[in-house]
Amino acid sequence: MATGVSTLQRRREMAATTATSGAGRCRLSKIGASRRPPPARVRVAVRLRPFVDRTAGTSDPPCVRGIDSCSLEIANWRNHQETLKYQFDAFYGERSTQQDIYTGSVQPILRHLLEGQNASVLAYGPTGAGKTHTMLGSPEQPGVIPRALMDLLQLTREEGTEGRPWALSVTMSYLEIYQEKVLDLLDPASGDLVIREDCRGNILIPGLTQKPITSFADFERHFLPASRNRTVGATRLNQRSSRSHAVLLVKVDQRERLAPFRQREGKLYLIDLAGSEDNRRTGNRGLRLKESGAINTSLFVLGKVVDALNQGLPRVPYRDSKLTRLLQDSLGGSAHSILIANIAPERRFYLDTVSALNFAARSKEVINRPFTNESLQSPVLAPVKLSQKELLGPPEAKRARGPEEEEIGSPEPMAAPASASQKLSPLQKLSSMDPAMLERLLSLDRLLASQGSLGAPLLSTPKRERMVLMKTVEERDLEIERLKMKQKELEAKVLAQKAEDSKEKENHYPTMLRPLSHRTVTVAKPLKRAVVMPLQLIQAQAASPNVEIHILKNKGRKRKLESLDASEPEEKAEDCWELQISPELLAHGRKKILDLLNEGSARDLRSLQRIGPKKAQLIVGWRELHGPFSQVEDLERVEGITGKLMESFLKANILGLAACQRCDPS
Ligand code: ADP
Ligand code: MG
Repeated sequence: MATGVSTLQRRREMAATTATSGAGRCRLSKIGASRRPPPARVRVAVRLRPFVDRTAGTSDPPCVRGIDSCSLEIANWRNHQETLKYQFDAFYGERSTQQDIYTGSVQPILRHLLEGQNASVLAYGPTGAGKTHTMLGSPEQPGVIPRALMDLLQLTREEGTEGRPWALSVTMSYLEIYQEKVLDLLDPASGDLVIREDCRGNILIPGLTQKPITSFADFERHFLPASRNRTVGATRLNQRSSRSHAVLLVKVDQRERLAPFRQREGKLYLIDLAGSEDNRRTGNRGLRLKESGAINTSLFVLGKVVDALNQGLPRVPYRDSKLTRLLQDSLGGSAHSILIANIAPERRFYLDTVSALNFAARSKEVINRPFTNESLQSPVLAPVKLSQKELLGPPEAKRARGPEEEEIGSPEPMAAPASASQKLSPLQKLSSMDPAMLERLLSLDRLLASQGSLGAPLLSTPKRERMVLMKTVEERDLEIERLKMKQKELEAKVLAQKAEDSKEKENHYPTMLRPLSHRTVTVAKPLKRAVVMPLQLIQAQAASPNVEIHILKNKGRKRKLESLDASEPEEKAEDCWELQISPELLAHGRKKILDLLNEGSARDLRSLQRIGPKKAQLIVGWRELHGPFSQVEDLERVEGITGKLMESFLKANILGLAACQRCDPS
C-alpha cells in the first residue's frame, strides 16, 4: 500500500475509478463494439514438465509423451494394447522453455489489449504439475506473468509516448478466489467482494484495489508481498499446494489525446488456478475437503464454459461459479483466451494427467498400439493448424515443438512384440505400483460394461461422476467380500452337518430315508434358518434352468406357507419367513412319504412328523388291511388322523423332505 493515504480513502478512490470505467456511465467505447468479431475459441495448450520428483524412481519411464507440436499420447489404463492420442492447439514437451511457452502462446495475444480487447491466460492442472512455474517461474526462469508484464509495459510506453494519438496507463489488481469468495490480495482486510456486470457487459469488482504501474519494479513492489497473502495449505501431494485461484488483473487504459477523446480499456487476466487433483488421493478431510469441493466445482464449471464456448453452444454457464463469472468478459466473446494445461510425466500423476487431458482436449483418439518406452523414429510432424499459424510465427512454432521431437518420431511406430510391450508398458508398472487403485478402476470399467455402457471411456466422464462411481465400486467390492465370507462359513456348517447326518444314518438308519426329526424345517419350530447350498450346488442349479432355487423371504410379522395343494397359503402371526419351494421338490417329498407309508416299519413311520408310536401302528394295520396307499392324502382314512392333523402332517413332512432334498440331491 502506498504510504500517506489511508486504505479506506484509497479504496474509495479505486472504487470510484472502477465505477467510472464501468457501470456508472458506460462511457468506454470498445474497438469493434459495433462490428463485433465472431466469438473466439479458447485455445488450449498442454505443457509437460520434466521429471522433478526426487522421491519416486526417476529412472521410471514417463507415462506420457509428445507426438508433434499439437498432440501427445498416453498409455490407456483400460487396455494396455491401446494408446490414447490427444490433440490440442499446442503441445510443449518437457524440454520446452519458459520462453517457448510465452512466445508461442501468450505474447501474440498481448497486442489485442491495445485494441481495447480482453485476454486471459489460465494455468490448469494438478498440484505439482507446473502451473506456478509456468505462470510465475523463478528469477532464473521467469514465467508468463513477469514476461507479459515486461512486454506490456514496454508496449504501452512506446504506444503512449507524446505525439502518439493515445495516452496509455496500466493498473494492476491481484485477487484470489477461495471457497467461492473473492478476496483482494492487495488489501486482504477487505473481505469478500462482489462481482458486477455493467450495462455494456463489462465485469467489474467495486472496491477492488487497482495500483497504477509504470515499471516492472512498480509491479514487483505490489505483487510480491501480495503473493504471500495467498491461501495455501499442505496436502499430501504438495507441501505448498495452492488452494485458491490466484487472479492477476492488468488493465490497459487508453485515452485519445484529440477529439473525439475516446477511451478504451483492455483487460488481461493471468490466472494460476488451484490444483485440479482428485480429492481422494490428497487425503483431504474437513476444511481441506470443503476447499477441494469448491475448487473442483469451479474447475468443473470452467470446463463446461470452455466446452460451451468451443462448441458454440447458445448458453455458456458463466454464472455457475465466481471464477467464470469474473471471466465472463474475458473468456470467449471477443476476448483472446488461452488455457495452459500442465501435466507431469511421473506415473503417480497418471490419473490426474488423464483427467487434465480430458478436461483440455480438443480431440481424443484411441490408437490400437501399446504405449511402450521405445522412442519414435523419423519424425513426421503434423502440420501446424491454421489457427496456430495465426498465433505463431515460423520460428516460434518451431520452438514451441520442444526439442525432443527432433530426435524422435516415426509415421507409424511399430507395435512392440507382446513380451517387450508387457515388460516396458508403464501401465503394467502402474498396476504393480498401485494394484488396489488399478483393480478398482478395472472393476468400475467392468461394472460400466455390464450396465451396457457403450464403451464410453470412463475417464472422459466428469470427475464428480467418476468419483461417485468409484465409491459405488468400492462399496460393492466390500459387500461382495462380506458375502463371500458368509457363504464360506455357511458352506462349512452345511458340510459339517451333512457329515454328521451321514454318520448317524449309517449307525441307525440303513434305509434310504433319513429321520425327519433331523430336518431343519418344521412347522412347530419357526423357519428361522435358511438352508444354504454349497457353492458347487448353486452353480449346478444355476446351470440347470429347470431347477428352481428356493428362497426364504422375510415377510415382516406374518408367515406364509404354501399349502400342499398350493391353493391357499396359511398365515401364522408369530413368524416372519416365507418358504418358496419348486413343484419338483414338493412332488419328490410326497413320493418319499408315500414310499415310507407303504414300505416303512412302525419304527420307520415314527420318524415322520406328527406320527407317534400309536399312529405308526395304526398306519401299519390299515396298510395290512387295505393294501398300499395310493396317495399321501389317503392317510386321512386311518383312524385317529383328522383333517387338521393331516394338514399339518403334510406341511411338516413334505417341506422337510423337500428341504432335505436341497441339501442332499441324491
Ligand atoms: P503447481 O503450481 O502446479 O503445483 P509448481 O509450479 O509448483 O506446480 O511445480 C512443482 C515443481 O516442479 C516445482 O519445484 C517447479 O519448480 C518444478 N517445475 C514445474 N514445471 C517445471 C518445468 N517446466 N521445468 C522445471 N521444473 C519445473
Ligand atoms: Mg502452484
